Amino acid sequence: MSQKPFHFETEVIHSGYSSEKYEGSLTPPLFQTATFTFDNALQGEKRFAGQEEGFIYSRLGNPTVKMLEDRMAALEKGEAGLAFSSGMAAVSAILVALTKSGDHILCSQGVYGCTFGFLELLKEKYGISHQFSLMDSREEIEKNILPNTACIYIETPINPTMKLVDLALVSKIAREEGIPVIVDNTFSSPYLQQPLLLGCDVVIHSATKYICGHGDVIAGIAVGKKDFMKKVAMTTQKDIGGIMSPFDAWLLLRGLKTLAVRMDRHCENTSKLFGFLKNHPKVETIFYPGDEGHPDFPIMKKQMKQAGGLISFSIKGTKETAQEFMDKLNLIKIAVSLGDSETLIQHPATMTHAVIPAEERVKMGISETLLRLSVGLESWEDLQADLEQALSAI
Ligand SMILES: *Cc1c(COP(=O)(O)O)cnc(C)c1O
Repeated sequence: MSQKPFHFETEVIHSGYSSEKYEGSLTPPLFQTATFTFDNALQGEKRFAGQEEGFIYSRLGNPTVKMLEDRMAALEKGEAGLAFSSGMAAVSAILVALTKSGDHILCSQGVYGCTFGFLELLKEKYGISHQFSLMDSREEIEKNILPNTACIYIETPINPTMKLVDLALVSKIAREEGIPVIVDNTFSSPYLQQPLLLGCDVVIHSATKYICGHGDVIAGIAVGKKDFMKKVAMTTQKDIGGIMSPFDAWLLLRGLKTLAVRMDRHCENTSKLFGFLKNHPKVETIFYPGDEGHPDFPIMKKQMKQAGGLISFSIKGTKETAQEFMDKLNLIKIAVSLGDSETLIQHPATMTHAVIPAEERVKMGISETLLRLSVGLESWEDLQADLEQALSAI
């Protein structure tokens, strides 16, 4: 495609693929192959030496996977993308690439459960320490940057409390200190938030969620500067080996086409359900970045296009009340994950955040009655009716 740049809604369908190169095939072909033949021995030598472009072996690169990597790079406004077998394969490959023994990682106050587990592993095995920070002011960020801070790792919105981190502020300070900023952008997708445009260095996605959108793939993506991504591709991706399968890339290319329309519906449904839950007498607290009373509402307005498809709320009562409520739901399914067409509900204290010690959990604002809803694409009226009947049954 020569006529650039297109709007996001167009890029999400066309970027990274030219049908002219593939017999006019409208949809990207699936290169379901482990290896690639060379025309002759010299070509093989040149490809291995990096003197000739081309594919060698699918752990080092695959045409279908590359189409997805190029499309994601375009959507995140980055130079290069890399696809992984899971979000955690992306998180671990990037963190290992950026750190060495004795380093320190500064993290947002709350990270995905398995990211927390991986940070603990880095600490125990390699002496790479980490620390959580609210990152809510220049002083708070500067105070936590140590001489050995190798990178800053952020999730925003933070799972499941929906606190936000001001990405422009953190990246400005990090830049002054020469420290790279990594953002797990899973909850927003590039349609709602583009951290690289705010000065961050690497964006990570659990592509399992909104990028896929159909709940049928586990996958990860990272986007960043060309040189850095090449280094990751040649080290922690190639040698640890958490690469994406061509078929998963093909499914993701298909799912991605509807990202913009899906996100609009997710956001609209969530805002409707927020209006209902906010006023319900059995709901105690509610966390949603689109809430004008949310302390981070101004940050949401500044860095996100819309408030997203997730909402967390606590039920009045005990852990058992919250579990009883979940069991009364009919249409809404009890499951972890998010970003699917189906609306999903989960109980962070016993599910996604169960590995986090109870006292850390409380500091993060995760009570025993907190529930997280990933609002799907169904009719919001049907979803509201299901919430309503379950609330009146407890
Ligand atoms: C799901 C998730 C991950 C992990 O991704 P997987 O694809 O399950 O490995 C990381 N970060 C966030 C915010 C997630 O929601």
